[in-house]
Amino acid sequence: MTDTHAAIRVSEIFGPTIQGEGVLIGLPTVFIRTGGCDYRCSWCDSLHAVDNQFRSEWEMMPINAVWQTVVTLSGGRPVMVSLSGGNPAIQPFRALIERGHREGYRFALETQGSVARDWFADLDVLVLSPKPPSSEMRTDWAALEACVDAAQEKPQIVLKLVVFDESDYVYAKGAAERFPRLPVYLQPGNHTPPGPGNEDASVDMDGIMKRMEWLVEKVTGDRWFDARVLPQLHVLLWGNKRAV
Ligand code: SF4
Repeated sequence: MTDTHAAIRVSEIFGPTIQGEGVLIGLPTVFIRTGGCDYRCSWCDSLHAVDNQFRSEWEMMPINAVWQTVVTLSGGRPVMVSLSGGNPAIQPFRALIERGHREGYRFALETQGSVARDWFADLDVLVLSPKPPSSEMRTDWAALEACVDAAQEKPQIVLKLVVFDESDYVYAKGAAERFPRLPVYLQPGNHTPPGPGNEDASVDMDGIMKRMEWLVEKVTGDRWFDARVLPQLHVLLWGNKRAV
């Protein structure tokens, strides 16, 4: 199968809404959330795009159909398109990105950095989000470096790190030291993520804000002046609600 005729395994396409995290926070965005992930983080907030029990809800969509959905949602006006998941790096996105660029759209992809693809160089923004110890996943640093290499310094590349506790913070500092040229975005984790199919699960906002304050104090106390600390804006606005 050539890339042009490839199909993408989609969990949901939604927007425009605002990007809730990291370097593009606040920017109007259409999201393509892919189904399937090679990780299973303990606190994953997108289990409907990860857990096999939702596989029947995922759809293999031809590139054309995915693109038409994006165009319809954006009213034909070029907008930032976020490729997320799951792990979007395991889907064939090259043809979609080429097509969107021809029409003036821009593309950001967020991945844990476990799978490098040569089409990362076609992106506008590559967000690498290696998962800290609290995720119970183990980082393959060589794979993460391969992702940076695959991008060939063409897109803007940033590190985004979720921090739940002290060991996550130490991990985040270590990750930043491995990639000194990449801007670093830190965010407190949501320790009350939705269970599978339970987007009404309440969020412990006080707990999240306390962790945010703790994180700000850690960063400033350490004189880590290159790091940016941001909340998850969509969690502040909508809690665990999906597709907003
Ligand atoms: S890498 Fe992301 S989508 Fe995959 S399990 Fe972890 S948090 Fe969920």
